[in-house]
Amino acid sequence: MDQVLEVRGLKTYFYTESGVAKSVDGVDFALGRGRTLGIVGESGSGKSVTSLSVMRLVEESVGRIVGGEIRFEGESLLDKSEKEMRAIRGNRISMIFQEPMTSLNPVFTIGMQIGEVLKLHQGMSSAEAARKCVELLKLVGIPLPEQRVREYPHQLSGGMRQRVMIAMALACNPALLIADEPTTALDVTIQAQILELMKELKERLGTAIMLITHDLGVVAEVADEVMVLYAGKVVEHGAVEDIFRSPMHPYTRGLLASIPDIDAEVETLETIEGLVPSVYDMPPGCRFAPRCKHAMERCLRSQPALVETAGHKTRCFLYGDASEEEAG
Ligand code: SF4
Ligand code: MG
Repeated sequence: MDQVLEVRGLKTYFYTESGVAKSVDGVDFALGRGRTLGIVGESGSGKSVTSLSVMRLVEESVGRIVGGEIRFEGESLLDKSEKEMRAIRGNRISMIFQEPMTSLNPVFTIGMQIGEVLKLHQGMSSAEAARKCVELLKLVGIPLPEQRVREYPHQLSGGMRQRVMIAMALACNPALLIADEPTTALDVTIQAQILELMKELKERLGTAIMLITHDLGVVAEVADEVMVLYAGKVVEHGAVEDIFRSPMHPYTRGLLASIPDIDAEVETLETIEGLVPSVYDMPPGCRFAPRCKHAMERCLRSQPALVETAGHKTRCFLYGDASEEEAG
């Protein structure tokens, strides 16, 4: 099978008292073995909701997947029961989050927590799990693993805890790892080490990675492809080299211009003015129009479609024969 994950026309809406929030509004992507897709956007862009949808975790709140398809290893996840999803989560699909302290249980040792995953999903005996646990800590570069397995989360530094989370996420050889802002809470040096570790793991284990971040620097470091989300829609998608070399969408250009240039003598930090539109009150045309320097009359009236231009996909009327998106 070529693709580990295929998402087509995904729509995830939230039904609240203030109205319907179309948080993810028709998102498509596919991810092959050992590939990393960086999903980038500001908060409110729909990047986290996309990952929660893949895990089928939005239904616990007021959210609902109202359209599209999610195929994982060739099977439709939207047809799975909650019981079937529980067997997939933390097993074939693993997740790591920004703050490992909240995901680790403070009252159990590292060894007990990873061991639990191994016993539950892999049916290992306690002795096998204990051996495997030491092996996993070694894999993620934790020194003195035999000693660390007996320690509690608070005895580890933030960087070490994030490594433990990665070890736990890898305990079952997941086909897909979803990492939501995995390095945001860490300092720069540790961040670089964790990113290096993720690169090594995808090469060694062939894990497909969905990397959710607001940081394009992180994407440049580890991703093969990047998908930029704005207000629930994909605005640009392509190979990392292409998008960094020749970004097309004005929003992507703005994001790239906001990365501090470490070589520049004077740090220029161009930020994109304005805010992501409220999910309850989307502009009728291009969703980026209220913040776009290039907005034309047409942009205020109609929604551009995502079209392939120069090797990558862009949703903007500035390019070629950019067509309009059909309503619905
Ligand atoms: Fe700007 Fe128009 Fe392109 Fe939207 S379609 S990003 S408003 S130029
Ligand atoms: Mg988020």
